[in-house]
Amino acid sequence: MSRTEFELTDNVMYVKGVGPRRAAALEKLGIVTKYDLLTHYPRGYENHTSLTKIADIFAGETVQLVGRISDIDSRETPRVTIITAILSDDTGSIQLTWFNQTYLLKKLKSGMRLHVIGKARFNPWARGVVVDQSQSFTILEPDEEPELGIMPVYPSTAAMTQQNFRTAIKNLLASMPPLKEILPQEILSAQDLMPLDSAMRAIHFPKNYAELDAARRRLAFDELFLIQCGLMLIKRQTQVERLGITHNPNGALVKATLAKLPFELTGDQKKVFRTVVKDMEGKLPMRRLIQGDVGSGKTIIALLALVKTVENGFQGAFMAPTEILANQHYETFTRLLSDLGIRVGLLSAKVTRSPKQRKELYDKISAHELDIVIGTHALIQEGVTFAKLGLVVTDEQHRFGKTQRSTLEKKSDVVPDMLVMTATPIPRTMTLTVYGDLDVSLIKELPPGRKPILTQAKTSRSRKRVYEFVRAEILAGRQAYVVCPLIGRSESERLADIESAEEIFDTLSRGIFRDVPCALLHGKMKPRDKDDIMERFRDGETKLLVSTTVIEVGVDVPNASVMVVEHAERFGLAQLHQLRGRVGRGAAKSYCILLSDSKASDAKERLATLEATNDGFKLAEHDLKMRGPGQFFGEAQHGLPDLKAADVFRDVAILIQARDAAEKFITDDDNLNYFVSLRENLALAYGDKFSQITEA
Ligand code: ADP
Ligand code: MG
Repeated sequence: MSRTEFELTDNVMYVKGVGPRRAAALEKLGIVTKYDLLTHYPRGYENHTSLTKIADIFAGETVQLVGRISDIDSRETPRVTIITAILSDDTGSIQLTWFNQTYLLKKLKSGMRLHVIGKARFNPWARGVVVDQSQSFTILEPDEEPELGIMPVYPSTAAMTQQNFRTAIKNLLASMPPLKEILPQEILSAQDLMPLDSAMRAIHFPKNYAELDAARRRLAFDELFLIQCGLMLIKRQTQVERLGITHNPNGALVKATLAKLPFELTGDQKKVFRTVVKDMEGKLPMRRLIQGDVGSGKTIIALLALVKTVENGFQGAFMAPTEILANQHYETFTRLLSDLGIRVGLLSAKVTRSPKQRKELYDKISAHELDIVIGTHALIQEGVTFAKLGLVVTDEQHRFGKTQRSTLEKKSDVVPDMLVMTATPIPRTMTLTVYGDLDVSLIKELPPGRKPILTQAKTSRSRKRVYEFVRAEILAGRQAYVVCPLIGRSESERLADIESAEEIFDTLSRGIFRDVPCALLHGKMKPRDKDDIMERFRDGETKLLVSTTVIEVGVDVPNASVMVVEHAERFGLAQLHQLRGRVGRGAAKSYCILLSDSKASDAKERLATLEATNDGFKLAEHDLKMRGPGQFFGEAQHGLPDLKAADVFRDVAILIQARDAAEKFITDDDNLNYFVSLRENLALAYGDKFSQITEA
């Protein structure tokens, strides 16, 4: 009988020891094919390389024993059936216990030899120390040796136990023909990498820790190398195949703008602007990401760069993630630039809702009657055509997907320069995997005179005192934000006792702040109303602004010095840091008070982390660790292939090697073709996400 062909794309149900029922359980873990199972890498390992003698057991340890069983017994309690047996070796005896596994009564026979791995626990009712609910046990034939080794521990569910996983993967590996090598020999030797086939086997059942290390390094390298090759390809396509705009050295207009700034640029701002200028004056299109914590002054860099492109006879586009922010930038820009004869336009939802106004604006853009256009994502809608687009700035990049970024780029015949700004600092590995096609600049320094924001988490018992403090600040001439998670509230939220922005606004404006000008702001309001409210707050007319997270990103009112966040547990770490960045923008000492009665440990940890640090880099790292890259960037947006073997924190060294290898590899045209075919071969291995990233 001929053996059926083995394919990694086969359904996992055909692996010996899986079958339809377990296949259904595996599907819940995202495992559908044999390949999925193969790359369901262990989340950890247990060292079961040596046996413990029963006399040497300590309570609390995970132990591995071999002995003979006797006295098999079962006992019913109201909730569970407890099955016990006595295991003896030449040093002593111990009781084994299992819960509810009554089938064992048939399976286990006195005198059998068992190989048991389990956790020892002290139990005064039994024989002192017992081994509980043994994680795994094997019945040994009379002269069979127990299998010792480093045991994989898999992400699992109740329906798929560790033992099920170990057996299934062992069977899969036994039936799998040797995997073809995918990397060229020169890279394998240069990087001293283990062959793919050995790595795939060793990652599950390593002989020793050295082998495990080598396997992990190989598999992590593959993932990072492929991403790097993809990113290099994008960069090559945009930079080599399409020349960019060569801007002239800074002229009168840039100099006049610099002279008009109400402040001196910080050292970091100067440095970053110099880099931007150099990029813009170069032949290749600028592709630069500016990372700077909230309040570090990124807007001014964008403004100067946009003036530079205007000075060179081009138009500039500035995309903001929200209407409020687009408005704010528009005001800043017109204030500084209208005297200099630069024509600034605002393309907002409000404008585009009226067909007449929209057409007028679109016509002005395509006729080059506007120099700088500021807007939300409305800017990248079909129908907006720039006469001569020289520079595209995207503010708060993490709000936009990759696709949106490239749509705007395609709005022009020449390749415009591109500047991306983000307040979400991310670890270097992430930068290189998510933004690998961009060069990165950092603004670390904050404008002078900023005092660190004092952050305190409080329970609602302190609410009255908190609001009295806010009142005192307002009476001293300052302004305050109160941020709430909800606008109105639904029945379920009513039950959960979460007050909405509307309710809190009512309570506050009729109570303790009844003699203070208050306003309510939320995302469901009409754009014009939102603008008016924001404007009055910015002018200092309104003192207290009760709002939802519409103010989260970028809103800049330096006189606001206090923020109270209601139900702070409902917000993520990065979000709270963004929110908090709305205060501490002026010279006054600023405060952020996080109100929460949550007892959940992760919420408490988040709030404590915010109390402890103002450093956005540290927070982002923490957040990323807690939530993982997928959620951190928002599933649809990050465009990052799933990293199964590589770890964004641990593997910086491997990433650098992968990047160097990719750089060398991709410069060679033959290799380029090789890479393209490699990519096709790997469609299976790295799925759609990988082709997404390489098909820019
Ligand atoms: P972000 O980096 O969060 O976008 P902004 O660009 O909104 O920060 O700047 C925050 C505030 O700091 C603004 O009020 C801006 O005018 C002010 N600012 C920016 N640069 C400086 C500077 N060099 N000196 C003083 N104030 C500055
Ligand atoms: Mg900003």
